[in-house]
Amino acid sequence: MSDKIRVNTSAGEEVNASTGTYHDYVVRATASNGLIRAFACTTRNLVEECRKTHNTFPICTAAIGRLMSSALMMGVDLKGARSVITLTVKGEGPIKGLTATADNLGNVKGFVSNPNVLLPPNESGHLNVGGAIGQGKLSVIKDIGLREPYIGSVDLQTGEIAEDLTYYFAVSEQIPSSVGLGVLMNKNNTVKQAGGFIIQLMPDATEDVISKLEAKLNGIKSVTSMLDEGMTPEEMLHFILGDMDLEINDHIPVQFHCNCSRDKVSKALISLGKKELKQLIEDGKPQDVFCDYCEKHYSFSTAELQKLYDNAK
Ligand SMILES: [Zn+2]
Repeated sequence: MSDKIRVNTSAGEEVNASTGTYHDYVVRATASNGLIRAFACTTRNLVEECRKTHNTFPICTAAIGRLMSSALMMGVDLKGARSVITLTVKGEGPIKGLTATADNLGNVKGFVSNPNVLLPPNESGHLNVGGAIGQGKLSVIKDIGLREPYIGSVDLQTGEIAEDLTYYFAVSEQIPSSVGLGVLMNKNNTVKQAGGFIIQLMPDATEDVISKLEAKLNGIKSVTSMLDEGMTPEEMLHFILGDMDLEINDHIPVQFHCNCSRDKVSKALISLGKKELKQLIEDGKPQDVFCDYCEKHYSFSTAELQKLYDNAK
């Protein structure tokens, strides 16, 4: 017997028993000779990471998991270095709002305004994400390095996020799309499965392609059932587009990652303005500032706050 002191440095990492070692990724694909574009992802680990970071209740985990999965699939499609997409949902329901930001390298971060929402299941016995979000707006901000970011905004249709994004693509980008998203919880409220797909018709799509795709989509199961049966993102797309000349073009690993820094937090503090900063200084003690996205905190002394005050407007 060894008397060395050992620690488990992989605490919290679980391996999915049914699929072996599990990692999160997005696939990008085309079908019908490029008339169809498709994305699919599995995001279980990063949604669980987000749940642990923010201590979200199941409805909130499902909502932010769906939004982060969407942001990742839309993010990998952005052109240009350091491009970033931010999806924001603001609603009248108890969650109030949620935000997910992804870059085109597969990094995503997200948070929920009120992470502790509890509601009874909806009519179909599922987590009532639509009820928790309520009526409101979905905004999409794409920053691809141009002077002005692209901003699109639509009214929420159901608050379930997939339908709202489908509506956004139709109204704001004029792209007929089908969006499927799902987050399934374990009994202990950890994340069992998460992921989704986006399938889009290009402008030249023929009636034949459209009706074939519609017939296929009418017959599919929910994303959570597909994932829970052990289907990979590739297999989900094969299931939907397998007889339409599906070509998988990219496999992009994705992760929950926040790129906050002391410098970024300082800039955010400066942008609060002199009035807010003055109140913090008058408090007379060091202030802990938490990052919304990852809960990391940065401590600022009164002298440091005074410096930021001098730079603020
Ligand atoms: Zn952060």
